[in-house]
Amino acid sequence: MITTVLPTYNRAPLAFVKGEGSWLFAEDGSRYLDLGSGIAVNALGHAHPVLVQTLTEQAQKLWHVSNVYRIPEQEALADLLVDATFADTVFFTNSGTEAAELAIKMARKYWYDKGEARTEIIAFEGAFHGRSTGAIAAAGSEKMVKGFGPLMPGFKQVAFGDHEALASAISDKTAAVIIEPIQGEGGIRTLSDACLKGLRDLCDETGALLIFDEVQCGMGRSGKLFAHEWAGVTPDIMMVAKGIGGGFPLGAVLATEEAASAMVAGTHGSTYGGNPLACAVGAAVMRIVSDDAFLAEVNRKAALFRQGLEGLVAAHPTVFKAVRGQGLMLGLECAVTNTDVVKAAYGQNLLTVAASDNVIRLLPALTIQDADITEALKRLDAAATTLDAA
Ligand SMILES: *Cc1c(COP(=O)(O)O)cnc(C)c1O
Repeated sequence: MITTVLPTYNRAPLAFVKGEGSWLFAEDGSRYLDLGSGIAVNALGHAHPVLVQTLTEQAQKLWHVSNVYRIPEQEALADLLVDATFADTVFFTNSGTEAAELAIKMARKYWYDKGEARTEIIAFEGAFHGRSTGAIAAAGSEKMVKGFGPLMPGFKQVAFGDHEALASAISDKTAAVIIEPIQGEGGIRTLSDACLKGLRDLCDETGALLIFDEVQCGMGRSGKLFAHEWAGVTPDIMMVAKGIGGGFPLGAVLATEEAASAMVAGTHGSTYGGNPLACAVGAAVMRIVSDDAFLAEVNRKAALFRQGLEGLVAAHPTVFKAVRGQGLMLGLECAVTNTDVVKAAYGQNLLTVAASDNVIRLLPALTIQDADITEALKRLDAAATTLDAA
């Protein structure tokens, strides 16, 4: 179909007009079970009543003021994030990409202020940190960078989870290491706890700052508020976005006081970052997701879903190879082309999202009902059956 929209996406011929919990309603009235959640964005499902109310109330009071003033809603959300994490300080952005830009700037400025020539940043193969010139240079994949050169210099990529490769790449020239504890776009690839610990140790030995990109795996998706908590290690800087706004554009960079020490007045800014609307919604999301009982439910549902998925892999070995992921950040490694599985799922009114490594992503609302998990498994089974026959 030809539209006036720049065709940078391969779009499915589906358009939705309404959402409710884990369900989306199309123009023709048909309904779809949503296991994509806007790619891990609608953490509390669609039209969560608390978020609708928070946004509506804030919209009647104040939408936007400049960051040249104090913004109480921003301070309240920063307090919640600092209380719940390793961080001492927070900067708000509108997206994950902008969070990546600041994380990179913060790390370089840290070493500049220390008078050390450390500008190199080590990233990992299969990584995704956004689509800005800096973020594509960090990830470095051919698919993302081709034709956009010259790239921002100073990035190096090593194999994901390869401790030896990282150990030989890291040096006293390394400003920072940036990694997703669970790669999303890369194919729901989890880094083992031992790997994350080893990574922290290497950074401690060399002084390099450790940046976690929890844009996709954070905000309760892994079953902990942030995925790195499973390994018991903390970063110096962390990027957050997607789920934190529950569908309203919001991102953040969290940092220790030390790592953030060079970012003084005038070194960074954002017109919209941390606006009252986004922060009011973000605080409502944080209050719900950071609750232990809520996270326990995420883990209970995750176990239920995962068990069902293992059953599907066993039942359809010609379609599925394995289950990946943690919590409700799940993936199915496919034995057929993953986009064919996504299409077959559309045929069952089920929304999933393709990723690299021939994986389909299952990123349901963290609030998904047990009955909807059962329904999702039924529809995945039906989709796989159409491919078994093919
Ligand atoms: C989506 C994503 C980004 C980019 O976020 P945008 O909000 O699309 O700019 C960065 N890192 C990871 C891990 C992501 O999944």
